[in-house]
Amino acid sequence: MSIEKTLSIIKPDAVRKNVIGQILTKFEGGGLKVVAVKMKQLTQTEAEAFYAEHKERGFFGDLVRFMISGPVVVSVLMGDDAILKNRQLMGATDPKKAEAGTIRADFAESIDENAVHGSDSQVAATREIAFFFDTTEIIP
Ligand code: GDP
Repeated sequence: MSIEKTLSIIKPDAVRKNVIGQILTKFEGGGLKVVAVKMKQLTQTEAEAFYAEHKERGFFGDLVRFMISGPVVVSVLMGDDAILKNRQLMGATDPKKAEAGTIRADFAESIDENAVHGSDSQVAATREIAFFFDTTEIIP
């Protein structure tokens, strides 16, 4: 096990449902510490840049429109194996396939509006944390 940092986004659907606190509680209950957090309205340019790896996918336009449809809460989570642990707490991309008790099973309705984003590798975590936070904003 190693101590890692990962990026989480509470997506616009979950912010609209007023479950920011319940989702942060799942992270904390799962052994992750919130070491940076902010609410943000993404611009189209930011959302396109953040999801650039998906730009050839058929759903890219819908994904960007959804991600700018309201504010998001971005956070840096820290802990033992934080990247994998966060992915486990999130559940499968499609909430219908997500294990009971995971964030997506509890709070998401569909694959396109699935409550949370989480970095899926060390390389992604480093890029995504730097996308939203200066090093001075991360307080372990
Ligand atoms: P994740 O790492 O579990 O978030 O999943 P992916 O990296 O595969 O996809 C990124 C995001 O694209 C997902 O979280 C969804 O919000 C969105 N997405 C994936 N598949 C679809 C789809 O078929 N339709 C739409 N509209 N969005 C999708």
